[in-house]
Amino acid sequence: MERTLSIIKPDGVKKNVVGDIIGRFEKNGLRVAAMKKIWLSKEEAKGFYIVHKERPFYDSLTDFMSEGPIVVMVLEGENAIAKNREIMGATNPANALPGTIRKDHAENVERNTVHGSDSPESACFEISYFFSMLEIL
Ligand code: GDP
Repeated sequence: MERTLSIIKPDGVKKNVVGDIIGRFEKNGLRVAAMKKIWLSKEEAKGFYIVHKERPFYDSLTDFMSEGPIVVMVLEGENAIAKNREIMGATNPANALPGTIRKDHAENVERNTVHGSDSPESACFEISYFFSMLEIL
């Protein structure tokens, strides 16, 4: 059993595809262990994406992530980290496989609808950024 952090980014929430996205996780054997809808400030988005602070797209990415509400979730299941990333598809929707969330919903490499932790270490940091132990069920 593994846990990972999933985010439905502002573009996904705006498009009203929250249910579609959660349904894909559930159909693939992942379970929602915690969930909330929140609106990040620019500073909170910068803190979440601190690993990307030297990247040229850091400012634009954190503007995007704070432009509207997001849905954050802890997903739980066997190989949850890898499975979530498989369901999401490649970062750039142009390279994403058919049937993935990003292929079906993402606009471009930045506005790509979903986030998923990429390692156990980042899952640990990212889950604790949004949820306390008491909120994960
Ligand atoms: P992920 O793990 O697939 O989300 O990809 P990364 O960790 O590499 O990047 C984090 C997020 O930054 C991505 O999901 C995109 O929203 C954004 N991003 C990644 N690469 C680029 C890029 O080349 N340009 C822009 N504008 N945004 C990017």
